[in-house]
Amino acid sequence: MDQGPERELFDPQRQAGDQDTCARWASDGLAREWDRLWSSGLEFYCRKYQAAGLTRRDLPDLAAIPLTTKAELRADEATFPPFGSYRSVGREAARFISTSSGATGRPQIHLRTALDQERWIESMRRHWWRAGLRAGDRLAQTWPPPPYSPPWALTLAPAEILEIPSGPPAAGGASPDQLSLWQALRPTAFMTTSSQLQLYEAAAGQLGIDLRALTEGTSVSIIEAACQFPEPAAWFADHYGFARVHNLSGASEVPGFIGSSCRFNTGIHQSADLVIVEVVDPSTGEEVGCGERGHLVVSAIGHDQFWLRYDLEDIVVRSDGPCPCGETGPRYTLIGRQADAVEVGGRTVLPLDVQLALFGQGAPEFRVAGTESGSLRVEIETDRPEGGTALEQCLIEHLEIPVTVTPVTPGTLPRSIFKPRHKG
Ligand SMILES: [Zn+2]
Repeated sequence: MDQGPERELFDPQRQAGDQDTCARWASDGLAREWDRLWSSGLEFYCRKYQAAGLTRRDLPDLAAIPLTTKAELRADEATFPPFGSYRSVGREAARFISTSSGATGRPQIHLRTALDQERWIESMRRHWWRAGLRAGDRLAQTWPPPPYSPPWALTLAPAEILEIPSGPPAAGGASPDQLSLWQALRPTAFMTTSSQLQLYEAAAGQLGIDLRALTEGTSVSIIEAACQFPEPAAWFADHYGFARVHNLSGASEVPGFIGSSCRFNTGIHQSADLVIVEVVDPSTGEEVGCGERGHLVVSAIGHDQFWLRYDLEDIVVRSDGPCPCGETGPRYTLIGRQADAVEVGGRTVLPLDVQLALFGQGAPEFRVAGTESGSLRVEIETDRPEGGTALEQCLIEHLEIPVTVTPVTPGTLPRSIFKPRHKG
């Protein structure tokens, strides 16, 4: 096998295991984690699983283990402050920290050992390689600074890639300093979000800087769920001139759970040797069928942190069948967050459904504002007075549910300085 810089996968042995190998990683991993939780006396999980009638002696099937949600962990932290009784890594063992963004409440502190950090570095290095980054590349990233962000340079320096930490734009737009950093250093790759790029683009325009001259021909690792679909991905690549567009997905809680789409854009690849991924109906705990939407549920293998059937409450669709890149681990398309789902006419609608339906209408900025009298309420920016009716008709046709559109003046809906949000 070619081990040079032209090879498709960073670590073919770990990323292209055959079906039996991947199944063995999962079953051995589960057995180890099951034993560990009882032997180390992880109180939260011992209580929870005992209450469900499970015992240390009888290793259950994965599907028989109750799901755990972030709300349960938060409640446990409130009962046993500050860290709860669910953690396998405490202050003394921790060598690295990061925090959640706080977008869904008070930021949560993630404690990692050196081994956990190694898992994170492994999954990130697989991603950088998947995104086409090689020695000598220069990555501009716009993530919020520590303590939210882990030190990306730990994953980039061993790959001989320069990190250009640019930080998120302010709500009013990017600063000249941020853009001049890019002008001076000429990134060959970006890690950013679609809403951040819009702010950078607007600021560049005001300063007379051609943003496309900076993004042309580069690789982008992006948080923009629409780019998992061919037409928005092609538009995005064309608009900014990106040579490669790779969607990122993961969970900052779980170090080895960083995944991305490959150049064939067939779904988000995750690592079968680092995590077990399920797509689950949360009401039954069972896996849903191929093509069906379900919750993304992750279990960590070979971490010091303990994560077993952690329900991220992200809604995904599992991708089946081989990918031309040769990677064999779990793969899925990310549709949105359960918290952003709206029930209308017996259907569950997510902002991405609206976004994809509006794509053919010039992809206007919008916000899902809930429901009213059995109808989905959507605010959409348009400068055409009659535009609201046409947009409403378009959504009714695509979504096959009652929709009420409120046209709003362009530029009035709030812009996110980090992850794209389309829910009011
Ligand atoms: Zn692939």
